[in-house]
Amino acid sequence: MKTCIFCQIASGDVPTGIVFEDEETLAFLDHRPLFPGHCLLIPRVHVETLVDVPAPLLAKLSSNARSLAIAMEKALGAQGAFVAINNRVSQSVPHVHVHVVPRTKGDGLKGFFWPRQKYRDPEHMGEVRGVVERAMKEMAEGDKQ
Ligand code: AMP
Repeated sequence: MKTCIFCQIASGDVPTGIVFEDEETLAFLDHRPLFPGHCLLIPRVHVETLVDVPAPLLAKLSSNARSLAIAMEKALGAQGAFVAINNRVSQSVPHVHVHVVPRTKGDGLKGFFWPRQKYRDPEHMGEVRGVVERAMKEMAEGDKQ
């Protein structure tokens, strides 16, 4: 018996509004949408977070998220889409999912745009840039070994 609700949706045990399926992924309507048409795109296999997704599957999720964003415009008359993944923090379902939300200028969506901050000064911004850049380089070096 699967305990993950998104695994149950993927296996068809829990019926839901599926809008797209292929071998590796499926997309269905979020049951509490930000706007009608808000979809969740998931891998069929149980992978908890973005960090756990193998690169080929990530490529598939990205390309299908792109197609869904196009479908929001074609089918719903949206002007664009908001595409997002909560990774661990604010992630309420531990089966990775991409939110694809239809957007239109002036639609009033605020929730995803949490209050922004300022860097203390240009040095602070430089420091933060440096540590993130270093981590990225170290990971790239690690991949080569
Ligand atoms: P997050 O908070 O980023 O993990 O998003 C989880 C999303 O899953 C929320 O937007 C929920 O509304 C949605 N959700 C949870 N259970 C279901 C379900 N059974 N069918 C459709 N959407 C669901």
